[in-house]
Amino acid sequence: MKNHLLILIAALALAGCSSNSTTNNQEKQKQSTVGAHPALQATVYHQTAAEMRALSYQAYNIARYRLDQSLRVAGLTKKQAVIVDIDETVLDNSPHQAQLILNDAAYPDYWAEWCNLAEAEPMPGALEFFKYAEKKGVEIFYVSNRHDSLRQPTLKNLKNLGFPYANENHLFLKTTTSSKVERRKAIEKDYHILFLMGDNLADFSGVFENGTIVERFQETDSMKDAFGSRFIVLPNAMYGAWDAAAINYSYAASEQEKIQMKRQRLRGF
Ligand SMILES: [Mg+2]
Repeated sequence: MKNHLLILIAALALAGCSSNSTTNNQEKQKQSTVGAHPALQATVYHQTAAEMRALSYQAYNIARYRLDQSLRVAGLTKKQAVIVDIDETVLDNSPHQAQLILNDAAYPDYWAEWCNLAEAEPMPGALEFFKYAEKKGVEIFYVSNRHDSLRQPTLKNLKNLGFPYANENHLFLKTTTSSKVERRKAIEKDYHILFLMGDNLADFSGVFENGTIVERFQETDSMKDAFGSRFIVLPNAMYGAWDAAAINYSYAASEQEKIQMKRQRLRGF
């Protein structure tokens, strides 16, 4: 009888443990998803990591080095220019991304509202580099997929910060297509392009538009010598074509489906 009692007590204790550990696991799972907006980690990185600032400075230091190098090339017949993207290349829009997370919202919510404020800060190193380029007689063309309806606040934002060439002739926004190929061609008619800067590979070449992950990898590998030379890349883990490729461009999928698709991309060991 005593033995039975002991067994019963032990069984109850075990049951208690198991129930406790189930509760703990559930609690852990809950904690790991609370507040886990898809862009949380990337946005915290963008806004708080000194490494992020360092990468931006690194990109603009390479740009300065490349500019000095390019100016030594003799015999150029056209005027010289650099083509740059705006968002997450020249201007830091992470406050918009942060607001999406805080309000549990998704792009394009608040995008026009944010742009109309014209209060984006420059990406670290950008302003100094463009002023340097202007001093050296190199023009800057801003080629952005902000919609053309945001032209005035975009110019105002760039001008207020003191960016050179913040004027109608040097700003190419999106009208009918996201592809930047034709806009780049229009600039190349009159200018020798020293190099291009962007946070999205489609800022550099049409071959990167709408590609699968495998295609984007292949194109990148085939042009590996161009990075840090003709193409200068800035980091953006918050959003971009890479993110769209990861969900097969299924923009209409639910957040849950998108998370599922991304999990399926993961390679463990
Ligand atoms: Mg961009």
